[in-house]
Amino acid sequence: MDHFTCDRCGNGLLLDAPVRYEVRIEVKSAYDPLEITSEDLARVEEELHALLEKLKDYSAEKAQDEVHRDFRFDLCATCQKKFLADPLGRSR
Ligand SMILES: [Zn+2]
Repeated sequence: MDHFTCDRCGNGLLLDAPVRYEVRIEVKSAYDPLEITSEDLARVEEELHALLEKLKDYSAEKAQDEVHRDFRFDLCATCQKKFLADPLGRSR
C-alpha cells in the first residue's frame, strides 16, 4: 500500500486512474454472547490453558493471526469494481 500503485493489478494510480480506493479488511476472532454456567466457566478455563500451551509454540506473527489482523490496500477504479462484485474471491 504505497498510494501510487494498485495493490491488485499493479497499475499506477496517479497516472492511470483519476481516483484511488482504499480497502481496509479486519479479521478478528468473534464470539457470540452466551448465558454462562459454572460448567461453561470450567470448560473455558481448560480451553484457555490449552490455547496458551498451543501459543507457546507459535511465532508472534502466527499468534497474532489467530486473534486479529488488519489489511489495507489501494485499488484502481477497475479493481474496486471487481472487488465489490466478489470481495471473497468466490468466483476464482
Ligand atoms: Zn487495479
